[in-house]
Amino acid sequence: MIIDIAIIGAGAAGLSAARTAHALGKTCVVLEARQRVGGRAFTDRSLGQPFDAGAAYIHFSNRNPWMREARRLGIATQPWRGWTHHVPWLNGQWLSSDDQERRLTGYSELWDQIETLGEAFTDRSIADAAKHGSPWAQATASAMSRLGLGDEPSRLSLYDYIHQWEGPDHIVPDGYGHLVAASSHGLPIELGSIVRRITARAKGFDVETERGTVQARAVIVTVSIGVLKAGHIAFEPGLPNALLRALDGLEMGALTKVALSFDGERFGLKPGDDQIVLDAPGGAMTFEVWPFNRDLVLAVTGGDAGRALCHVGEAEAVDMAASLFSSVVGQDCRPHLRGGRLAGWWTDPFSEGGYAYARPGAYDAREALMDVGIDGLYFAGEADAGGRLGATMTVAGASMAGWNAAKRAARFLG
Ligand SMILES: Cc1cc2nc3c(=O)[nH]c(=O)nc-3n(C[C@H](O)[C@H](O)[C@H](O)COP(=O)(O)OP(=O)(O)OC[C@H]3O[C@@H](n4cnc5c(N)ncnc54)[C@H](O)[C@@H]3O)c2cc1C
Repeated sequence: MIIDIAIIGAGAAGLSAARTAHALGKTCVVLEARQRVGGRAFTDRSLGQPFDAGAAYIHFSNRNPWMREARRLGIATQPWRGWTHHVPWLNGQWLSSDDQERRLTGYSELWDQIETLGEAFTDRSIADAAKHGSPWAQATASAMSRLGLGDEPSRLSLYDYIHQWEGPDHIVPDGYGHLVAASSHGLPIELGSIVRRITARAKGFDVETERGTVQARAVIVTVSIGVLKAGHIAFEPGLPNALLRALDGLEMGALTKVALSFDGERFGLKPGDDQIVLDAPGGAMTFEVWPFNRDLVLAVTGGDAGRALCHVGEAEAVDMAASLFSSVVGQDCRPHLRGGRLAGWWTDPFSEGGYAYARPGAYDAREALMDVGIDGLYFAGEADAGGRLGATMTVAGASMAGWNAAKRAARFLG
């Protein structure tokens, strides 16, 4: 039997493509490599207390479709109030109040610089934008790039960054990943189906998985650009040139989380007493302490430091995060540690990185990626939710890309 649309991947983009295809009266199946849905939106419960290993914030919640979906499913969300005690630590000690003041000035200085350059219509890297500023502006550019965008400031397009949507964030006590997974109820999803090859035939496509071949008249590929660039899926004939050009301008960052689970000892810190370490080996690291009053600390880093953590593996990454946290709290926290998890997206073959960013000069690559759609083959995901949208790198953006691709596939099918 030949179905209308085969959708590769059950992350936010794939789920939304499937819902849209169904609403437009098309038959479809979602082929997902993992034994779970949600992709990079995943609420991990393996430590006994849930935490979001990937996406956690419902960004620009004033226009984010996941707010409506949470209400429909009866899943609570709450406004994120920001980090109330966000104390930076540098060179082994807390910043003095004068230095904290200078750091804040560095932030405004960087922001002014970014806005001025943004109006100049010449794309460049975020590091370039910061280089004429004070050392504090440069430190801010590094921390913001690694922790917010997942890579080093010299690799990130300034234009790509300034075109992102802004707005208030919401958080989900039961987990953003839980919300995304709950939304998949009733969709035709085949878990454990690793797609290896997609071949164009006269009347559609053969989609080969390790469990057999699915025939479809159209295909929507929602795997990350990291997976595409790594060549984990073979395309016959090869990938369209327009797609290859767009992929050239995009790279995957390495935002990386380590969750530490404690026995109830709080080291004198209250929920919200989050810390940012500006001089962790290779880059900054934040510690979010006791989220939702749980006995968890979530350490986050990005860029090359994130890659290094992924490469050393879970045991060592947990130990490194616990040791840095010990330095910050001023006592060895390890006797109270009950377990830890590394969310190592960079070394995960089904994501090959955190999320996609554009290289300096290639800010239009997302739009190009979004436009690729050749004879029934479409690509969708957080990487191409930019361009005309601006919700790139987010769960919401991936969903928007998914529904656009499904509408285009349905139009193609007639
Ligand atoms: C640490 C981290 C923190 C983040 N924080 C936020 C946040 O706070 N807010 C936010 O909005 N966004 C956040 N993001 C980004 C967000 O998670 C992603 O933008 C979004 O989830 C991507 O959805 P997607 O559908 O495009 O891709 P994915 O979720 O990656 O979905 C693709 C799916 O394809 C599957 N797949 C891969 N290869 C194959 C194959 N060969 N065959 C079949 N299936 C395959 C994968 O298993 C996956 O399920 C974060 C990401 C990370 C990594």
